[in-house]
Amino acid sequence: MRVLLVDRASAGGLARFGYITFSQRWAFPGSRVITALREEAESIGVEIKRNSRVVAIRPSESLVTVETVHGSISAKYVIVATGIVPAPEAITHNKISIGLGDAARLKWDLSRSGWRKVVLYGNDRASLEALASTLKNDLDSITICCATEQQLQDAARVAIARRAEPDDLAERLPGLPAELLSSHDGAILDYNSYKVWNGSTGAISMPGVETDHGYIKVNPLGRTTAPRVYAAGNVCTPASGILPAMSSALTAALAIGQELADPSAGADRFPWFPRLASWEDSWLMEMSGEDASGVEILS
Ligand SMILES: Cc1cc2nc3c(=O)[nH]c(=O)nc-3n(C[C@H](O)[C@H](O)[C@H](O)COP(=O)(O)OP(=O)(O)OC[C@H]3O[C@@H](n4cnc5c(N)ncnc54)[C@H](O)[C@@H]3O)c2cc1C
Repeated sequence: MRVLLVDRASAGGLARFGYITFSQRWAFPGSRVITALREEAESIGVEIKRNSRVVAIRPSESLVTVETVHGSISAKYVIVATGIVPAPEAITHNKISIGLGDAARLKWDLSRSGWRKVVLYGNDRASLEALASTLKNDLDSITICCATEQQLQDAARVAIARRAEPDDLAERLPGLPAELLSSHDGAILDYNSYKVWNGSTGAISMPGVETDHGYIKVNPLGRTTAPRVYAAGNVCTPASGILPAMSSALTAALAIGQELADPSAGADRFPWFPRLASWEDSWLMEMSGEDASGVEILS
């Protein structure tokens, strides 16, 4: 198989900033696991195209065309795994932090940073207002900045026109004006906003791929409503975490492997049942509420 990974940044996503936690005592820094996976992938011939933003995914019955700011690529199958925040890299900017955890944790983060004048940035006004009311007694000033769908699409158009991402990471957050950031101590990216409305899919045109609140609808194998397009990770569910994201990516990859497998080579292989040629042939279809004619959406 020839596999290409396209990422608008350096690849690895938010997992680089967290822990891959199996239990309280058994956890690994995400950055180490991601580095190891990346090295292994490259050693077996996976190509990684960094700093290349995807702006459109156009499926057809025979191929999928992926348009990036650097040109088009065609593939037999595509797995979309763009997460939920519009630009994960932006959280490495010294004036951007991410609003994770409960009120106490947020206040603790703010007291450590010493920020008094803060922008709350996200894409769901109700969530931003709730966050503002949680923090109002702990800050001197709060400005809400709520990105719109239009701003996301405009940002994608600008990125295509200039064929590159802006140098300043904060500019990757559509609708957050540079002047607003410079006149405040910092901006909190409201993670909860993106749980309400996925912030990564608004800037990607995906005809035939159904979404709900920006989340891509998939069946239990990660198959979307468009031919040859799968999705995995946070982009298809607000219930997040590195392990669930990796697990769903593995399932989607195995499902594609099954589709690419030579039927004459026999079907006695993971992930479905031995001696069953495909998911469609298995009783698991019934259990998942699908019928062989199409995709029943469960999430
Ligand atoms: C600060 C922080 C700490 C966390 N800590 C933990 C933790 O300790 N343990 C845990 O289990 N979970 C943690 N989480 C949640 C976890 O990070 C996510 O659930 C997980 O990373 C989701 O993985 P993903 O691959 O679906 O998306 P992401 O990790 O968001 O990756 C998406 C990737 O897609 C790329 N991308 C997006 N749009 C485009 C585009 N248009 N074109 C090309 N590439 C694109 C991005 O650059 C990124 O690399 C944390 C989250 C945050 C924000």
